[in-house]
Amino acid sequence: QTLLSDSDSEGLEDSQYSLRPQTLDEFIGQGRVKKQLRIHIEAAKSRGQALAHILFVSPPGLGKTTLARIVANEMGSSFKSAVGPAMERLDIATLLTNLEERAIFFIDEIHRMKGYVQESMYPAMEDYKIDLPIGQGPAADIITVPLAHFTLVGATTREGLLGGPFRDRFGNRIHLDYYSPEEIQIAINRLSERLQPSVKIEEDAEYELARRSRGTMRIAENMLRKVRDYATVESDGIITYEIAQEALDFFEIDELGLDDNDRTYLRTMIEKFRGRAGLKAMAVAVSEDERTIEEVYEPYLIKLGFLTLTPMGRVATDAAYQHLGYPTPEYQST
Ligand code: ADP
Repeated sequence: QTLLSDSDSEGLEDSQYSLRPQTLDEFIGQGRVKKQLRIHIEAAKSRGQALAHILFVSPPGLGKTTLARIVANEMGSSFKSAVGPAMERLDIATLLTNLEERAIFFIDEIHRMKGYVQESMYPAMEDYKIDLPIGQGPAADIITVPLAHFTLVGATTREGLLGGPFRDRFGNRIHLDYYSPEEIQIAINRLSERLQPSVKIEEDAEYELARRSRGTMRIAENMLRKVRDYATVESDGIITYEIAQEALDFFEIDELGLDDNDRTYLRTMIEKFRGRAGLKAMAVAVSEDERTIEEVYEPYLIKLGFLTLTPMGRVATDAAYQHLGYPTPEYQST
């Protein structure tokens, strides 16, 4: 599987098996997105052209990288990937000049790419050419190098952090949503069969894991692996509903899928800041970087209705107080 071999086998024990969905048909859920991609892919193929540049936007673990690879597969194109923050102009130039015709060039965390590096990509994205300096100092010359017709596929958790002109150069901006428990259950079922050795898990246990996965495929996959370990050591290896419950309790994942980090975050906000705090204060109080708080913790708490963002700071809602067993504060009556 050359497609899986370059950048992100992610050190998983099972990376040698192609566990990721490889085609749009195998990609679960996100019906509208798949339909949209199918249309663009089919049209581009029938014209023999490269796809328009695509920006995938979602919280982590919802399938942006997976979709980028699938797009390459479905186009029959080569796939190259890079991570935004690490890229310098010259790195980009080297990568771009080595792309094949209709290649998919995937940049993860593209919002963290430096501003001047983003800008250096404008001519590449618009006109498939790039300006390169030759020599140094005042005598330096610029030559313009033509590029293959490629497709830039960017992934970001924070669309708003991309420069406006950069964002506008993506013909397709595609948002992925959290998955339903039913969709995640399908993924858990599939993964349990594909893991080596396969995992025996009962249907109601699958659903229980799915329900507590915060609508996020990556969390579901990690949870299955953890619960598998628990079942292996504490029982006969079969994940029954009871074992699933026991394991999730043991790993401190609550009814709504919140883990210790989420609860610490909410508790800190409630106990230290009386339910309202700024991002910086929260980051210091829970010793976590601001980015992780904004991109990992908060989106799901907001989706659950436990947190709202206001001009006056983050506010824990009554529902959050109730979930954690605090009396609801009077000033917050809904
Ligand atoms: P992102 O790039 O958004 O952080 P990934 O593409 O790395 O997310 O996906 C995380 C994990 O979840 C991968 O192992 C991937 O195979 C799986 N996954 C994501 N979306 C789906 C889906 N729709 N169907 C099946 N598996 C999925």
